[in-house]
Formats: sequence, structure tokens, C-alpha cells
Amino acid sequence: MTTTPPGPAFDALIGLSVGDALGAQFFVPATARAHLASRTDPPGPWPWTDDTEMACSVYTAHTERGAIDTFDLTHAFARRHDFDRGYGPAANRMLRLVREGGDARVLAAELFDGQGSYGNGAAMRVAPLGAAYAEDPAAVVRPAADTAVITHTHPQAVDGAIAVAVAAAYAVRARTEAMTPNTFLAAVAELTPRGAVHDGLTEAIRLLAEPDPLVAARVLGNGSRTSAVDTVPYALWCAARRLTDYPAAVWEAIAAGGDMDTVAAITGGVVAAHTGVHGIPADWVAARELLPDWAYPVPGRVRPAPVDRPGHLKPMLLPRPCPVPDVVWAEPQWRRIQEGLRPLETEQRWESYTAEGVLHLHRGWTGFEIWSVRVAPVRGGGWRPVSALAEVHPDRYKGAPDPQALARALRLAAEGYGP
Ligand SMILES: [Mg+2]
Repeated sequence: MTTTPPGPAFDALIGLSVGDALGAQFFVPATARAHLASRTDPPGPWPWTDDTEMACSVYTAHTERGAIDTFDLTHAFARRHDFDRGYGPAANRMLRLVREGGDARVLAAELFDGQGSYGNGAAMRVAPLGAAYAEDPAAVVRPAADTAVITHTHPQAVDGAIAVAVAAAYAVRARTEAMTPNTFLAAVAELTPRGAVHDGLTEAIRLLAEPDPLVAARVLGNGSRTSAVDTVPYALWCAARRLTDYPAAVWEAIAAGGDMDTVAAITGGVVAAHTGVHGIPADWVAARELLPDWAYPVPGRVRPAPVDRPGHLKPMLLPRPCPVPDVVWAEPQWRRIQEGLRPLETEQRWESYTAEGVLHLHRGWTGFEIWSVRVAPVRGGGWRPVSALAEVHPDRYKGAPDPQALARALRLAAEGYGP
């Protein structure tokens, strides 16, 4: 079960974006010295950076589907990528190549001489996802990893994302459950795979009594190497100690220097998952640049894959390749396809959903899958079917695969019945 917005996931997104935007103000040394010393707000507006842009994509994709679909999220990252938002050079190049038709999995795995990126970019965007899993923090481990490997395949980067997502889930739980900084971080470490990030969290637990953030950051790191290991333990140390006090947590996240927008985005996302939006100073929210229009999704807009009731929809028994029609779907048509056909609106004829870039078309009354159609983005915009499989098992479909029938079914999926 996940929560529906506006709720903790949205709270975490707002907290993340404010931390990101405020932290990004301190890269000018004079600003840093003057305002950090006095803890006064730098003048607004505060533009948000890549952390917020990607977090909005994670939040929107998960809210619309109630699950993580890596095909949808990959192309959301690539299409919304704004070069001027402070992405690292590797992310800029990779997202541009995906937009131009590159294979995201290959590109992500190739980064950094084939080790994959161990940067903090997967951890920085994931707190809103974690906040949706407060009922069962262990259940966010897999979806958090799925959001990470789209761009960051190195285990340290994936573990960093897992730790932040789990922390956000426990931060929501701490609204109603007694937790100390120690039990909070210990619970996060418990669900983080063993490795360098886990070791950093263990060190952070040991340092909880340390009063000086600069001393803690000297041991844990402050993101100056922009790696997950160098970023996540300190960001979560700040969040654990100040879970009920958003401004104090974010000031401490920034105080250590380093990758200040990302450390503050992680700390702010986790703490706001606990405090809610009203824990964030109103003038900070007002100073932060507005979020993009598309960051306000309709919950449940995209039909999820039917993992919870596989009994009705039955996968193909005997698939055979079938030619696909030469069509390009504009964005609204692709959105219609993602919404899926429901049996009632097609007089029981069809039921459809998308999963990982494949459109599955089932007969409404039997649940038999008749077509599955792989979809790919078109360079410059739009989507197209690139290959299809047809059911040819005689118990399920009489006759040979009919490209005309496929074209009609696809038209219905993309247009609905119309007015
Ligand atoms: Mg940034």
C-alpha cells in the first residue's frame, strides 16, 4: 500500500526542493560567509537545481502509477532534463543520448569506465518515494533501487538511494511512533545493504552525540566528492538529530559546505516527511522558485501492471511476431495508452495496461492476452510501436495474426471511443 497525495510524499518533495534551492545559494563564498554565520536567509528567489527536477519526476511517476516503472521514469528524466539545472557532466551527456535514442541501460552501465556512477544523484531524488512507504519501510528497498539504476548502477549509489528512501519512510512513521536519533538511524542501517554506505551510517550512529556538525562532516564527508558514500551518511546524521526541526536540520546540512544543495535536499526531504509542509518556514517556501506544472500529478492516472490480481489477465500462451502499423503517437495519445482500456468502457472487448515500455492488450471477457506491443520514444518527440507479438494458440485465438486488427486495437488504445 502506498499513500496518495497530498500526503507525506508531497511533503518530502517540498522539503527536498526547499533544501536544494536554499543550499544552492551558498556556492557564492560571500553569501555563504555572511548568511551562514548569522543564519539569515539569502535574498530570493532561490532557483531549484537538478535534485528537484529529478525528484519531481520520481514523485510524479510513482504517484501516477503507484509503482516504479523504469521505462516511464527513464524517459521522464531524459525529456525533462534541463541542461542549466546543474547536472553533472556524465548525467548531462547520458540524458541527452537517451533523448536522442540511446539505450539507457547500456549508457548507465558504461559510465566511469564500466563501474557505473557512484555519485549521489540517485540518493538526492528519492526521499518522496520513501515517504510513500511508511506502512512498510522494507517494501521501498526494491523500488528505490529501481529508480537508482536508471542512471547510477554502482552499488554504493544504489545503497545510498535505498538508505535515503528508507529514512524517509521511517521519518513518516516517527509522526506516530516514538523514535530516538539512534533508533531511527539504526533502523535505516538495518535495511541498507552491507557496504560502504552502511559503514558510513554505522559511523554516523557513533557520532550522534557529537555537537559540532563540522567535526561530524570531517569524518562522514560533506558531498565534496559528490559520491553517495561521501553524502548520504552526513545528510542522514543531520536529519536524525533534527527530525522535528526542519530549519535547524537544513542549516546544519549546509553548514558543512561541500555539495550543499544535494546534502540539504536529502536532509530536507527526509525531515519534511516527518514534519509535513507546515514544518518548513513559509518564507523559505515562498523564496523557492515554483515547482514545474507537471509536478502536480493525478494519483492513479496510469494503470499499473496487474501484479496483484494476475488471475484475471492471462499472459500469452503462444506468441508469434506480427508487423506493426507505421504510426507515431503524440504525447496525449501516449498518455491515453498509459491510462489503459478498461473493460466497461470498451463493452468488455479490451483491457490494457503498459509495463516497462510494452502495451499489453487483453480480451475483456476472457482476460486472454492477444497482443503485446513494444513502444519506443521517437527522437524529437512522440512514441511509436516498434514490434508486436500476437497470440496464436488455437485455444485462445482463431486464425492468423491480423495486422489490420492490431491497427484497430492500437487506435482504440490511443484514442478511446472518442466523444
Ligand atoms: Mg543540484
